[in-house]
Amino acid sequence: MAPGAPGEIVAGNLALVRQRIAVAAGRAGRDPAAVTLIAISKTFGPAEVHAAVAAGQRHFGENRIQEAEGKIQAAFEHPGSNLEVHWHLVGHLQSNKAKKAAALFDWIHSVDSAELLRKLDAAALERGRQPRVLIQADLAREESKFGADESRIADLARQALECNAVQLAGLMIIPPIPDHPDDSRPWFQRLRELRDALVADGIPKASLAELSMGMSQDFEVAIEEGATMVRVGTAIFGSRS
Ligand SMILES: *Cc1c(COP(=O)(O)O)cnc(C)c1O
Repeated sequence: MAPGAPGEIVAGNLALVRQRIAVAAGRAGRDPAAVTLIAISKTFGPAEVHAAVAAGQRHFGENRIQEAEGKIQAAFEHPGSNLEVHWHLVGHLQSNKAKKAAALFDWIHSVDSAELLRKLDAAALERGRQPRVLIQADLAREESKFGADESRIADLARQALECNAVQLAGLMIIPPIPDHPDDSRPWFQRLRELRDALVADGIPKASLAELSMGMSQDFEVAIEEGATMVRVGTAIFGSRS
């Protein structure tokens, strides 16, 4: 590969992000292997996904069904597609797209309503799939944000536990855009505390093991606060046009 070729840049960026994950985990006395790096490939094409796969990346995230559809297809047609690659939906999901989401994604981070959960479960059951889901928490209550209000999360978690196909795996948050990485810390702490409170309240710990929090700007802070999944786009693929 020519120096500076897109694949080489992606591989270099990935190595750097992995190193930063290891340092942040070390600082927090955590095992870096307990943090899953999800490469957010939105707006980038199959070529960048393949470059990341070639560099050892196995988890990818998308935020739109329509964009993801073609890309996931292309990734599976690639010669390296016998490698196990996992796709995560991290963007808002309308319940009328639940069928497609259940067909395409192994993980869905953006469950925020009972209706969506019901439709996802029905679609997954029909297709014989068992997507793992996270409940997106809207702790900041920003007008523009999706996610479930804190007061509804316990009920949603209990409903998810009753599902036939869908597997409850944890919680997710997208905090307000930070000026400084540390601005996100209180939101990450609150998500972890919310998880701990739900576990104390009887939701099985294994069903809330995952905390999906932290993006390019603040993933190290998220790891210090207990993130088990970080969603990193820009720091791997470059800025989006
Ligand atoms: C785009 C996106 C990311 C990645 O953002 P970067 O700042 O590019 O790392 C993470 N999570 C969600 C939900 C996103 O939509």
